[in-house]
Amino acid sequence: MPNTVHKVLVHGCEIIDAFYTNKDLMRFLLLTSDPFISSKRKVSSKKYKKCNEAVQNYL
Ligand SMILES: [Zn+2]
Repeated sequence: MPNTVHKVLVHGCEIIDAFYTNKDLMRFLLLTSDPFISSKRKVSSKKYKKCNEAVQNYL
């Protein structure tokens, strides 16, 4: 599964919570889906909260 698709499907609710506009969200996804840029990022130790049950059922 491509990295961007994985992030949207698995971590979509956390990503949407962290950004305010679709423009911010698209910029974040474009940056993090670039293999070169992703290889330069430090891995975050941030813990994500779980999606609510309705979102999990939808996915
Ligand atoms: Zn993941």
